[in-house]
Amino acid sequence: MRYHLSLMKSWSIRVATLAGTEVRIHLTFLILLAWVGWVAYSQGGISAALGSVGFISSIFLCVLLHEFGHVAAALHYGIKTPDITLLPIGGVARLERMPRRPSEEFVVAICGPLVNVFIALLLFVFLRAVPSFNLEFDPLSGSFAQRLMQWNLLMVAFNMIPAFPMDGGRVLRSGLAMMMDYGQATRVAASIGQGIAAMGFFVAIFMFHPFLLIIALFIYMSAGQEAAMVGQEEATRGLTVADAMVTDFHVLQDDARLGEAVEVLLKGSQHDFPVLDAAGRLAGMLTRTRLIGALAQHGMSHPVRDALEPAGETLDSRAGLADAMQILRASPLPGLPVMDAAGRLIGLLTTENLGEMMMVRAALARGGNYSKQAGS
Ligand SMILES: [Zn+2]
Repeated sequence: MRYHLSLMKSWSIRVATLAGTEVRIHLTFLILLAWVGWVAYSQGGISAALGSVGFISSIFLCVLLHEFGHVAAALHYGIKTPDITLLPIGGVARLERMPRRPSEEFVVAICGPLVNVFIALLLFVFLRAVPSFNLEFDPLSGSFAQRLMQWNLLMVAFNMIPAFPMDGGRVLRSGLAMMMDYGQATRVAASIGQGIAAMGFFVAIFMFHPFLLIIALFIYMSAGQEAAMVGQEEATRGLTVADAMVTDFHVLQDDARLGEAVEVLLKGSQHDFPVLDAAGRLAGMLTRTRLIGALAQHGMSHPVRDALEPAGETLDSRAGLADAMQILRASPLPGLPVMDAAGRLIGLLTTENLGEMMMVRAALARGGNYSKQAGS
């Protein structure tokens, strides 16, 4: 449910906005649809193609309803969901933040699969009225409604695998978090998830099942990612942007030449420079990529003004570091300007510096004491 893959946004198209949530379809999903349609067409003509594409679309409508189950539950706790993306492997609802209270995480996680249980029940009631109905489980045969019911049940089973990023992983974590602290609950849940993924991996190899292999690898990596992300949040709890920002940095004026920027770039270790206008306001950021691109186009004597990333997101030095890191992760820039209460530029929050800070804090935590001085 929580991802920071920028590829997800750039490779997807917006199809609708429902209750403040953007519904996006990933291009790989459309490729899948086209492929399924083509295979069916080459085997059974146009009616087979329409049947297959219609069925896959219906499954994904159920996936979308599943995601809206999460969205509705999250909204109940005041958490918005900016977007949902449909991928060939399922849907991803990007919640503004994850509920931290175990009972809330439990409800948000379980409300997705519950939607599929509900759809399956509805279809079951409908099918019971049809005389030819049999209970045999085979999601590839039977009537449209019967197959759809079975796929919904499969979806429930798949989503309830107790491993991140599946809903079952979150249900497991929320259960554990009722007994231990959140960080520890995440680590235990992630290890269980990785154990399950490892088993899936071996099963996939023995059965020569490439699709299962990909899913197992994906689950394995996602579990590690979730544990790392929560670990990072634990490490930054109580810290503000001011605690982690770079305060020793170069600023450029917007009428400076690109040549000056090159000089500062080569002399120091800073890659990205905040640029101020004549009134001292932030005009934008000159990133290394932009600088190099502008150099190739215009040469050394061109003003930096034309090569800027516009001044978009800035960070408040008093804001919590965990939130700021989320903003930085979502930003295309490797560093964001930090402003004080009066709106003056006082620092930079960069991915590189944050990484270093995490390493330092992790080392101190391993030593057992944050306040312990080196060598003492
Ligand atoms: Zn779900």
